[in-house]
Amino acid sequence: MASHIVGYPRIGPKRELKFALEAFWDGKSSAEELQNVARDLRISIWKQMADAGTNFIPSNTFSYYDQMLDTTAMLGAVPPQYGWTGGEIGFDTYFSMARGNSTLPAMEMTKCHYIVPELGPDLKFSYSSHKAVTEYKEAKELGVETVPVLIGPVSYLLLSKSAKDVDKSFSILSLLEKIIPIYKEVLDELKTSGATWVQFDEPVLVMDLDSHTLDAFQDAYAQLEESFSGLNVLVQTYFADVPPETYKVVTTLNGVSAIGLDLVRGEKTIELLQSLGFPSNKYLFAGIVDGRNIWATDLSASLKTLKSLEEIAGKDKLIVSTSCSLLHTAVDLVNETKLDDEIKSWLAFAAQKIVEVNALSKALVGEKDEAFFSLNTAAQASRKASPRVNDASVRKMTSALKNSNHRRTTPVTSRLDMQQKRMNLPMLPTTTIGSFPQTKDLRRIRREYKANKISDDEYMKAITEEINKVIKLQEELDINVLVHGEPERNDMVEYFGEQLKGFALTVNGWVQSYGSRCVKPPIIYGDVSRPKPMTVFWSTTAQSMTTRPIKGMLTGPVTILNWSFVRNDQPRFETCYQIALAIKNEVEDLEAAGIQVIQIDEAALREGLPLRKSEQTFYLKWAVHSFRITNCGVKDTTQIHTHMCYSNFNDIISSIIDMDADVITIENSRSDQKLLSVFREGVKYRAGIGPGVYDIHSPRIPSTDEIADRITKTLGVLDMNVLWVNPDCGLKTRKYAEVQCALTNMVAAAKLLRAQL
Ligand code: GLN
Ligand code: ZN
Repeated sequence: MASHIVGYPRIGPKRELKFALEAFWDGKSSAEELQNVARDLRISIWKQMADAGTNFIPSNTFSYYDQMLDTTAMLGAVPPQYGWTGGEIGFDTYFSMARGNSTLPAMEMTKCHYIVPELGPDLKFSYSSHKAVTEYKEAKELGVETVPVLIGPVSYLLLSKSAKDVDKSFSILSLLEKIIPIYKEVLDELKTSGATWVQFDEPVLVMDLDSHTLDAFQDAYAQLEESFSGLNVLVQTYFADVPPETYKVVTTLNGVSAIGLDLVRGEKTIELLQSLGFPSNKYLFAGIVDGRNIWATDLSASLKTLKSLEEIAGKDKLIVSTSCSLLHTAVDLVNETKLDDEIKSWLAFAAQKIVEVNALSKALVGEKDEAFFSLNTAAQASRKASPRVNDASVRKMTSALKNSNHRRTTPVTSRLDMQQKRMNLPMLPTTTIGSFPQTKDLRRIRREYKANKISDDEYMKAITEEINKVIKLQEELDINVLVHGEPERNDMVEYFGEQLKGFALTVNGWVQSYGSRCVKPPIIYGDVSRPKPMTVFWSTTAQSMTTRPIKGMLTGPVTILNWSFVRNDQPRFETCYQIALAIKNEVEDLEAAGIQVIQIDEAALREGLPLRKSEQTFYLKWAVHSFRITNCGVKDTTQIHTHMCYSNFNDIISSIIDMDADVITIENSRSDQKLLSVFREGVKYRAGIGPGVYDIHSPRIPSTDEIADRITKTLGVLDMNVLWVNPDCGLKTRKYAEVQCALTNMVAAAKLLRAQL
């Protein structure tokens, strides 16, 4: 019997690391101060795990940015432009890669929020960050024996990209032989320092891998085997089940003594273990406590599952663990002052999950904490039966959905014609994506309103004034389709979560996305419905200030779902359909109030795509269906826009078409025009499209010529009469001075091209 934690949040229960990082980056604190905050966080995390009785405590899961970047530092895989000349990598080089510096841009960040290594055949690797060893020793000095965690060599390479200018024939896996020697150095040093276990995170093992890649795994671990002697090696997987072919390879890897499997997202893991068995000489780390969500574990059910696993793996070979690193859940429920006791009893954040893991592992050897288990049983029962969770009228409406595909009957081309007759827009119409700069004043007003420091009237007045300012500005700039600027919104998901039934908001439920960036996902605990209109007042207020069309602004159901903590007591699609119905009510109320254009953002639709191909079709089907539900009921003359923060649509283009929006605006300014050709080649994309003409993530102001040039290039790929002109994304992180100049140039570019018609 034993317990293990895959990894732990490092941002701190009150985002201590975030504030320390930002103070350091702003030059307001020293490197030493930052290191001290980081050290204190690590120490408290290790103590917490040790006090709970955890046998296998991870180290080296702390990071100043992300663990992929840490691995890049460990391997000395610094792209040459950063001018690093060797030696231990310090904050300078590390943060330059992460965030850029005065002369160089940062390395690319993926949508999965890590800094992507840029590798090529000429890159020299060297052991250049001893962080894994330092952290191991640091814990040891405190009397805590830990399992150092490394990103495994194959996953590291497969999550990397080829550097620019590298020949297309270059295979990234060919670098294995160069990085393995460095892993060996790390292992040797860890052993010398006293480590007896090491954990290799190999998340790519849950993806669809070809036999060539599986061979690479075998190869890599065979080469490492020599350094494995004297060490127990855990290969950790997560986020899905391991495909059967891969499972056969993983369970026979050389020198590996333990395998970690995700029993939560890995819905077929149990089946796999039952049908293929588990090697008798290895340990099974059973990830039964959900690392990606905030629900309390059903302890009795989990104990049953674990007992059945004991029969497969052997009593002394089963280790109770989390499904993945707890990095993906909130930190500590203790700091939630606004949630009521009933909801709190249904939840477990990282700190509580550690206790659950240990309670399960003790129960397995007959040391069951009866009081703890019965409290848990009572909470599970109260959640199941609660009228706050179950709303019969919502269930009735969602089950009725299954009888229709919810398509608008008129084809998009005819709809666009009718909409054009109504709105009479010029060629290359201009618009923005929704938000305008969120000034300090604006944030203060919202904060004071939330804290009841200013009255309803004062708040309404301030927001109305802000909207008025934004409308006037857009009119002066001569933009065609206007927005109200979203001044009342703190966040595009939280805003709706606050108003929908079935949602709860936390005060400290932060999850780190990378570096100092954190998100605070709402918790969806019950059947979702919309008690009253959420945006109609602000959109109509804006419309009353102008004769130009105002674009109503909503977040779509799939994005709300993907950026929330979701119920685990019903399938995701069920929850998504409920949200879709709530948004549908809002769309129809906006239309009835005279709003002619409505944008339904689906920024996170692609991000929710399952890792495995076999599951993607089903996801896309219900995701796209949910989107259509929101707007299938509007008149042909009402124009539905959607917005997505990416442009690589190659693999999902047919789903995008199937969403059947009238206009889609996408991010494009950082990619080349080739990506847009998917909208043309071989598919019948007939709707309007606005590929972002400039990058809103950068303070740089694009010139009129530059934007005109971009549009001209795009016109080489897309038809003039479907093209819209807009920025990449919302403007909320920019300053007014920047926005004013950039939009002036954007409108000028559109006019320039119209004049050439
Ligand atoms: N309408 C939102 C905004 O402009 C969209 C943001 C997003 O796509 N992430 O802020
Ligand atoms: Zn966006």
